[in-house]
Amino acid sequence: MPKLADDLSMTRNTRLNSLTPSKIRAFDEKASKIPGIIKLTIGEPDLNTPEHVKEAAIADINANDSHYAPQAGKPELRQAISDYLKRSLNVDYDPTSEICVTVGATGALNDVFMTILNPGDKILVPTPVWALYFQLIKLTGAIPVQIDTSKDGFVLTPEHLEKVLLNEGKGAKAIILTDPSNPTGRVYPSDTLKKLAEIIKKYQLFSITDEIYGELVYEDNVHHSLSEYIPERNILISGLSKAYAMTGWRLGYIAGPKEIMASICKINAFLVTSVTDNVQAAAIEALNNGKNDPIKARKIYEERLKFMKSGLEKLGFEMSTPQGAFYIFAKIPDSFGTDDEAFANELATKAKVGVTPGRYFGKGGQGYVRLSYASSTENLKEALRRIEKYVENI
Ligand code: PMP
Repeated sequence: MPKLADDLSMTRNTRLNSLTPSKIRAFDEKASKIPGIIKLTIGEPDLNTPEHVKEAAIADINANDSHYAPQAGKPELRQAISDYLKRSLNVDYDPTSEICVTVGATGALNDVFMTILNPGDKILVPTPVWALYFQLIKLTGAIPVQIDTSKDGFVLTPEHLEKVLLNEGKGAKAIILTDPSNPTGRVYPSDTLKKLAEIIKKYQLFSITDEIYGELVYEDNVHHSLSEYIPERNILISGLSKAYAMTGWRLGYIAGPKEIMASICKINAFLVTSVTDNVQAAAIEALNNGKNDPIKARKIYEERLKFMKSGLEKLGFEMSTPQGAFYIFAKIPDSFGTDDEAFANELATKAKVGVTPGRYFGKGGQGYVRLSYASSTENLKEALRRIEKYVENI
């Protein structure tokens, strides 16, 4: 086994020093070692990729479509994305100049941060939030400014945004909004988005919206996008990972004004050349002929959400009603104090149920735990039974 030469040991990119190892992953790995544990820590669908989507990829492989794809994505796929955005949000993006296909939504985030952020720039991040943002932002040398939304039911209010822009966020260049949210499951109402759009415009910010869970909204909630109100400054990120159960295929996209998309597509091409040819064929099939797939998935998640929410509430967990994605962000019962990390550790070792401590998602997450209901109904039932037994015996 080769050992790195001593004279090379201190020569890596110094920005890596600011990155902290993922606590979510570390906790998950530790929990995975507990025999018989049911893990509700996972942020990915337990459903399978739809058959017709798999078949489209297989046909594409058999047709030897295995070359470098166009760098911004196959034209048919960019057209399918443009059509999808038009029918779901009524927003207009030109497939040739305003859309770029990426390696998952993660690749999209990386492209966008690298395009707009310089070292020292501030970017506003409402929290609790999916923690990878912090790492990707720090890799560019920019500074994430956390906005704790826990006092407002995990929704950033226009008043709060303006207050931050006059104080710790003064001079910020951009804001990123996750809607629907991981970890809280909150969905922004259109009137809040409209008011946020006014402030974003007033302070001349870029907005980046991570809409990866946009198809997964429940009851009478409707997903909207800042692109409906400020298309001239919003950069929309989404992908197929969650709604089509395609996490492993790594297919995401970005839509935005053409002037900035030219730079974003350039960075994407330098980093990855192009997204896997056959994966793009699968994505075309999913978007053009799989309109019912997210609807089916939504029904399944909605039932599980109802079941988990009522079960947890009976046990003394409080929560702002989750409206989208597939997470419940629950306040741990008062009798357990406010140490979410200790609670999650105990629940893993004593009850054999894995949940993620809320503090790992940034400011405002302390005292909460995140449970993913992207797990089979059987698993959820058993997990709830174990939590009940544990809580009642304390
Ligand atoms: N954004 C959010 C908010 C997420 O929760 C996730 C996955 N956990 C991603 C992006 C990553 O999506 P992808 O797998 O398409 O890279």
